[in-house]
Amino acid sequence: MEIDRACSVLFAAFRRWAGVVIDVLIPPRCLSCGGVTEAQGTLCPSCWEGITFLGPPFCLRCGLPFEVDTGGAMICARCLSDPPRYRRARAVFRYDGASKGLVLGLKHADRVGRAPYFARWMARAGMELLAEADLIVPVPLHRWRLFQRRYNQSALLANGLSKLSGVPCRPDALIRVRHTPKQGSMGRRQRRANLHGAIHLNRHAEVKGRHVLLIDDVLTSGATVEECVRVLRGGGAAVVDVLTLARVVRPGD
Ligand SMILES: [Zn+2]
Ligand SMILES: [Zn+2]
Repeated sequence: MEIDRACSVLFAAFRRWAGVVIDVLIPPRCLSCGGVTEAQGTLCPSCWEGITFLGPPFCLRCGLPFEVDTGGAMICARCLSDPPRYRRARAVFRYDGASKGLVLGLKHADRVGRAPYFARWMARAGMELLAEADLIVPVPLHRWRLFQRRYNQSALLANGLSKLSGVPCRPDALIRVRHTPKQGSMGRRQRRANLHGAIHLNRHAEVKGRHVLLIDDVLTSGATVEECVRVLRGGGAAVVDVLTLARVVRPGD
């Protein structure tokens, strides 16, 4: 017993010492601007101030932030008139000029090392969702994109979350079978039609009866995510929640 305790104290001291040595050799850098920071995997104070982290009050379905808290359970107008296919969606921060670099950085091979730090933020923002999930699935990338980039940034985040939470991850549960044209100017219905059939369920995925947590880097119009939810639910998933690193918030939302 005493030896065990002595070992763990020594080990903790070694880890602290090793951490200090690593910080001296490779000074911690801000995840956004690359400036020197106090600890690994953080933002410098000025980048931190620029990012809009999302928290309550927000729409309980889609996670859209509200400006005022009316105290009750709140659902936004859009979710009331046209409910999303997922149960709940949450995101870490708002996708805007200040946070864009963080998200796009994940698409560059030299910055994939940041994914575990982002996964930590996502685990905090999606704590409730993660607690109920029994399977983590990333939004798939088309084969051609995967070939160009060599990795799927959503799968990196999904794997990071799986490691942190112990919830198993199935990176290949969904397969993107068709590359879809840009959806920029399309309306919601058109986007849905455009994506219909573009994503298939891997028949070995075993999603039946499970609470799936779907992972993506950004929630934009929600059309891709909704098509993934349709496919997962079609395969028998009991519930699908969505967790993303960033979320677009349009002034009119
Ligand atoms: Zn910075
Ligand atoms: Zn909503």
